Amino acid sequence: MRFLLLFASLLIVSPLHAAERLNVVASFSILADFVRTIGGDRINLTTLVGPDSDVHVYTPAPGDAKRIAEAKLVVVNGLGLEGWLPRLVQSAGSSAQVVTASAGIAPLKLGSAADPHAWQSVPNAKIYVADITSALAAADPDDAEFFRTQAKAYLEKLEALDREVRDAVAKIPPDRRKVISTHNAFGYFAAEYGIQFVAPLGVSTETEPSARDIAAIIGQIKAARIPAVFLENISDDRLIRRIAAETGAKVGGTLISDGLTGEKGLAPTYIDMVRHNIKALTSALDH
Ligand SMILES: [Zn+2]
Repeated sequence: MRFLLLFASLLIVSPLHAAERLNVVASFSILADFVRTIGGDRINLTTLVGPDSDVHVYTPAPGDAKRIAEAKLVVVNGLGLEGWLPRLVQSAGSSAQVVTASAGIAPLKLGSAADPHAWQSVPNAKIYVADITSALAAADPDDAEFFRTQAKAYLEKLEALDREVRDAVAKIPPDRRKVISTHNAFGYFAAEYGIQFVAPLGVSTETEPSARDIAAIIGQIKAARIPAVFLENISDDRLIRRIAAETGAKVGGTLISDGLTGEKGLAPTYIDMVRHNIKALTSALDH
């Protein structure tokens, strides 16, 4: 009898609750952190490219089309980051609304292509959060007030974070504000906060640098006396270690660029990521 009652209540209650929650897909872990923070328990969130994975070269998993087919919103970065996504949305036959979280930012150019790494500037992250909040509120008006309250609290934290970064950079001697990172993921950070980044890989991790590119970088590091080189959590270490060995620049640690880490890693959230990076930069450059 008790079993039957339980069974009956499951039948009535759970489908209703599941239907109330908005199904949202985020393309990669950094966007997922924004969406989770704003959406809280009012949404069902699925992340396609999880922690410590490279969104530039993602190969969709067999279940991804189904996840997209069931979603009402698909939140993407845009600016050419998720080249694999339009085909996936099309093949899923999904009617989900695709929300471009970077819509309100001023894109930087690298050659002829847009630089997709806009989230590395905290003021840009605030624009992402505003874009995501509007999309969630429009898709689920009943919870709009909740989303706006969540966003307001989070935007205050981001404002404090932005001040933290500016204060930390101000303590680095101006002639030491230059580093090497693996790929060109920190253009927006550089433009916002005034640290110069040089990267042997371009704006994507897809292409391997030639011997000539590497020789040019090594020459540049020596000529500019760049004090430190950094590894990245999503890229292969070998290239940076080789550059360090040939130039005498020190390895300053790991920068978190395009993907958060798992729960127990260095940066499970966006705020952790920015704090980790600024700490790594200042401890390598600040003397
Ligand atoms: Zn990247």
